[in-house]
Amino acid sequence: MVEVIHTGNIKARKQHTCSWCHSLIKKGQVYKRDTCVCDGILYYWLSCGRCQKYVDEMFQKINLDEEVNDEDLELFCLDKYGKKPKDLIEEEL
Ligand SMILES: [Zn+2]
Repeated sequence: MVEVIHTGNIKARKQHTCSWCHSLIKKGQVYKRDTCVCDGILYYWLSCGRCQKYVDEMFQKINLDEEVNDEDLELFCLDKYGKKPKDLIEEEL
């Protein structure tokens, strides 16, 4: 089971990759960082913000008790838009 122990908005000090859509979070960009614990292992889940609307759409379709990850988001976007989330975001830029 995943537990989110802290959520915060952080300005990137170096380049990161979004945990949801795998797009680039550039240095200086503000992103959301969830500090999570899963089976005793601490990790960060990073959100670039640009894919949030797709994540929200996905959450409307599924049971909130289910655990979802980036693979689920990719499948959701491929199913609905015919494209991967990263490609959808890059088209908007
Ligand atoms: Zn993203």
